[in-house]
Amino acid sequence: MNLKNLTFSVGGVHMDEHKSLTEACPIERIDQPEVVHIPMSQHIGAPCSPTVSVGDHVKVGQVVGTADAFISADVHASVSGEVIAIEKRYTADGRYCVCVSIQSDGQNTMDEDLHPFENFDTANIDDLMKFVKKAGIVGMGGAGFPLHAKLKSEDPLLDIVILNGAECEPFLTCDHRIMLEKSDDLLSSLKLFADLYHTKEAYIAIEENKPDAISDLENRIANNPDWKDLKIAGCKTKYPQGDSKRMSEAVVDRIVPQNGVTNDVGVMLTNVGTSLAFYNAVAKGLPSFERVITVSGSGINTPKNILVPIGTRVGDILDFCGGLKDNYIEIICGGPMTGKSVFDLDSPITKTTSGILVFTEEERPATEESPCIKCSRCVDHCPANINPTDINAAILKNRVDLAQELHADQCMECGICSFVCPAKRNLSQSVKLAKREIRMGSKK
Ligand code: SF4
Ligand code: SF4
Repeated sequence: MNLKNLTFSVGGVHMDEHKSLTEACPIERIDQPEVVHIPMSQHIGAPCSPTVSVGDHVKVGQVVGTADAFISADVHASVSGEVIAIEKRYTADGRYCVCVSIQSDGQNTMDEDLHPFENFDTANIDDLMKFVKKAGIVGMGGAGFPLHAKLKSEDPLLDIVILNGAECEPFLTCDHRIMLEKSDDLLSSLKLFADLYHTKEAYIAIEENKPDAISDLENRIANNPDWKDLKIAGCKTKYPQGDSKRMSEAVVDRIVPQNGVTNDVGVMLTNVGTSLAFYNAVAKGLPSFERVITVSGSGINTPKNILVPIGTRVGDILDFCGGLKDNYIEIICGGPMTGKSVFDLDSPITKTTSGILVFTEEERPATEESPCIKCSRCVDHCPANINPTDINAAILKNRVDLAQELHADQCMECGICSFVCPAKRNLSQSVKLAKREIRMGSKK
């Protein structure tokens, strides 16, 4: 490996990885759920409006929600069957939005109108954008930004492509398994991006705690002349290495400006799961109706990596993994650092759900806040280079103006400040609150 030990310059932390629970578990397909709830809002941007009615029969891959707005992406049925309800409900990650509920007929009948993009390997970006929006491809690493909107950038022209395989949050291993089990499709998707942007700089960036994925992908590149320009970038195992701005700096030394995105510095960066979904859509005609997730933690009986239809209920996923242990205390949607607590086992997963984690006191020991001892750990480790303890003090005094002067709006909500604080102060919640207040103030 030529590129190794790459990382970002400010803050970050190495933490216990807890990946051994599932990193060797091959992806299993979950049993067909009896009911799915397809959320109309699974992405950044305008929610979709249902295109079906109660009583309709739908097939797998059929569009069930769409929106005219540019920043949006269609949603699709993930099982075949009958639409039994269209109503608002909470998703596993806490959104409250309209969902189309489908009772499965157990047949898994595919929509016969699905088709790949003709001559996709000689297409240009403009040709592909509409197709990708209709296929519902959004960032699956957590952000949910519609891919078609990211594909194009006029100024500057995108000249570097990076597939993000860092998977830096503890416990999660779904991207790791995708890189091992879908490697040829993943490399084909990177080659396709490289051709679209006429660039020779095309990378899959992987944290070095996944040596099997790194060596397997390198071997495949070495044995296929078509892929000779693709590169594997080995990144230091350090949280939050997978954040897009940190990754752009680590891999190609391009620093994204405050409030900017990687497109601003000519870098098209997307998660490996998203890239695979893109390839499945253009090359195989499959829209985004399922994804791989990790189910892990000491509170679940059988941790696994599973392929799940979008809209599957959390309860069905937990049952497939042997059920909850009696001593569980919390269920998380996403990773332990940035995920949200799940309150309803009936809530459905979305395209951005990377994991369902079940914790006992082993991972969530009871703690109480104590006074700050001015150790500065929170400041030293903050990747956004801001001062969480001063922002916390400002918010406790209701001084949003002061929090703004301290650049609370630059917080990337990584949770490191709370994680490293020996006084167990709830810093990240406080900075998140300040950020929200600042944004709401700027909208008044
Ligand atoms: S949550 Fe925000 S303030 Fe805390 S370490 Fe992360 S970026 Fe910094
Ligand atoms: S890490 Fe905790 S104890 Fe240390 S300075 Fe920050 S708030 Fe204070």
